[in-house]
Amino acid sequence: MSRQKFVAGNWKLNKTLSEGQELVSTILENLGDDSVTKIIFPPSVLISSLVNTVASAEHFFVGAQNCSEHESGAFTGEVSAAMLSSVGCKFVLVGHSERRQYFGETNSIASKKIKLALQNNLKVIYCVGERLTERKTNKHLEVVKTQITEALQSLDPANVIIAYEPVWAIGTGETATPAQAQEMHAHIRSVLENLFGADVAANTSLLYGGSCNAQNAKELFACADIDGGLIGGASLKADDFCKIIQSF
Ligand code: PEP
Repeated sequence: MSRQKFVAGNWKLNKTLSEGQELVSTILENLGDDSVTKIIFPPSVLISSLVNTVASAEHFFVGAQNCSEHESGAFTGEVSAAMLSSVGCKFVLVGHSERRQYFGETNSIASKKIKLALQNNLKVIYCVGERLTERKTNKHLEVVKTQITEALQSLDPANVIIAYEPVWAIGTGETATPAQAQEMHAHIRSVLENLFGADVAANTSLLYGGSCNAQNAKELFACADIDGGLIGGASLKADDFCKIIQSF
């Protein structure tokens, strides 16, 4: 996959079927012509229906917020990469900080999920980012390097996008400054270069996430190594999400 512009909306545990359909319909009505790839990540139970809703839209896909680290079997409540792929899901988030914090997702579990996702033709947005204490103690660059190395080193990264989401900025209203975000994105490219070479580093799309909104998206997306955003709260309002898409 070559480097592209992305705006992805992580709905988390929000929206019923009718609310989700209404949100997507309003987004579609207000989208102009653009080259930005749009992805929505609704709760998994809505994916199948929303795949139909966006079917005729250009550069618009539905993804899953999570997939199982297991292929199949006795894992009650889990959803596999193959199941997601079978209903038209095209992307999956792996390693989101809420999965790491509340569900014990480690870099090694993330690696298993990414492997299964790629085997089942899903593209992956792999989320990385440091906690506030790690930034305050100047460990942020090392933490992100470890997250990337441990999860990706044994994989083909061609269909992997990386989202840098500082944990202290997610859902807090506090955003990384463009300088902080750019520093980390450039660092991520150098980590990728060491692992996979210059071509992969140059061609991997890197997204910023963490209280990105209609007001600050333009400044962030103007940074040399930022290719778009992973948006939480602001993706739940059609108007804000569309403004963010128009921020390149
Ligand atoms: C997220 O959950 O990935 C996220 C970036 O959330 P928010 O935009 O609400 O900070």
